[in-house]
Amino acid sequence: MTFPFDNTYARLPEHFFARLPPTEVAAPRLIKVNQGLARELGLDPDWLASAVGVAVLAGNRIPDGAEPLAQAYAGHQFGNFVPQLGDGRAILLGELVAPDGRRRDIQLKGAGPTPFSRRGDGRAALGPVLREYIVSEAMHALGIPTTRALAAVATGEYVFREDALPGAVLTRVAASHIRVGTFQYFAARQDLEAVKTLADHVIARHHPAAAAAENPYRSLLAAICAAQADLVARWMLVGFIHGVMNTDNMTISGETIDFGPCAFMDAYHPGTVFSSIDQGGRYAFGNQPRIAIWNLTRLAEALLPLLAEDQDAAIEDAQRILAGFAERFQAAWEAGLARKIGLTQPRPGDAALAQDLLERMAENEADFTLTFRHLADAAADPSADAALRSLFADPAAFDAWAPRWRARLAEEEVAPETRRAAMRAANPAFIPRNHQVERAIAAAVQADDLRPFETLLEVLARPFDDQPGREDYALPPKPEERVLATFCGT
Ligand code: AMP
Ligand code: MG
Repeated sequence: MTFPFDNTYARLPEHFFARLPPTEVAAPRLIKVNQGLARELGLDPDWLASAVGVAVLAGNRIPDGAEPLAQAYAGHQFGNFVPQLGDGRAILLGELVAPDGRRRDIQLKGAGPTPFSRRGDGRAALGPVLREYIVSEAMHALGIPTTRALAAVATGEYVFREDALPGAVLTRVAASHIRVGTFQYFAARQDLEAVKTLADHVIARHHPAAAAAENPYRSLLAAICAAQADLVARWMLVGFIHGVMNTDNMTISGETIDFGPCAFMDAYHPGTVFSSIDQGGRYAFGNQPRIAIWNLTRLAEALLPLLAEDQDAAIEDAQRILAGFAERFQAAWEAGLARKIGLTQPRPGDAALAQDLLERMAENEADFTLTFRHLADAAADPSADAALRSLFADPAAFDAWAPRWRARLAEEEVAPETRRAAMRAANPAFIPRNHQVERAIAAAVQADDLRPFETLLEVLARPFDDQPGREDYALPPKPEERVLATFCGT
């Protein structure tokens, strides 16, 4: 078994990364291979699960063609610039061109210390590895661009955080791991040559249409802004809170990356924050578009010398392009909300109608996912209102909104069943609810029981289907099950 690697990043200048292999672990044990993803990549899942395959996934064996390296990057963390972060615990094995023609990074996360580790141990604990596995695969099933999880292996070693925890390595698959912070790394060093080399690399790799533009770098910035506007809108349409939108955790490809303290909201409120380290609520649900612009402004600053010869002209270009984000985000968000409430022929007032529902949900602690899912049934059959209105602390808040919604629905000639199906395809029944994720992790970490993890993965792989017997997974937490905080777990 060979990986058909073709490593373009490893051919960039040597100061873009540090070359080093993963550090061996004591006793690799397979937790999970993602069979579907393996096949999609042209890899044999049975081979990956074999002793040699597991040795590769643990970092104990370097596959032919791999050119292992740790990438350099910088980043703004909670608004503070750190000129050197980099892969402190991840090793890029190489890039694989899958049978579908798409190029993907194969990265081992938790693969041991690197020159970028600072004071970290280079390792990952099993809990956060399973969390990333579950949530990134759930995002994919929801149709949202994301890095993916190819495999998880236990290392047979402990990692020491507040407690001794079982260690693990996640094999992460991404269009690339190039971040806003990768550009910042070179810009901060005034290494213009490197900024340009990196920009050319990402144009070729992620935004090839930009190459033909009059100024490819302006076009690149616009393409990245558009991809991020679409991405953040899609997050918010399923109630996702990234939790740590530092510039080193924002990709150039437009994929979601880094699932440390992320969470899906149960009850809707725009101020929702779960991350234990986000004291000021910088990365709260409703702040995400603003933070995305803030991050993209840092990207624009890094690209500035490439946008125009004259600095004032470059700043003007950057501002114009960045202004496009808000427009694109708003359009994606409003179109998505309209779909969620069953409207397909846009009219003025639709956004206000949806916003009114959201406000009523916030005031009444209505469950985000269930409200919209039940709306699909209620659109086709008002007798389904009972289940829906009971999600509101004061059901009258829904009752006051419903007639206006129904009047608006009546303006579109759509068969009830067609509308219901379209709404169900926009409103998942199953999201990775925090209490379910925590339960699966606890069983694996504390009792070595992977069944809840496996079941949860199965449920989340089909988020839009009703799944008889698995109704519990669609329910919000009971008060005693509520998860109030999530942790980075690094
Ligand atoms: P994250 O919070 O996962 O986005 O990581 C931020 C930075 O800290 C990155 O440069 C990581 O590589 C680094 N880092 C996180 N955890 C560790 C660890 N256990 N050992 C070394 N570096 C780490
Ligand atoms: Mg990160």
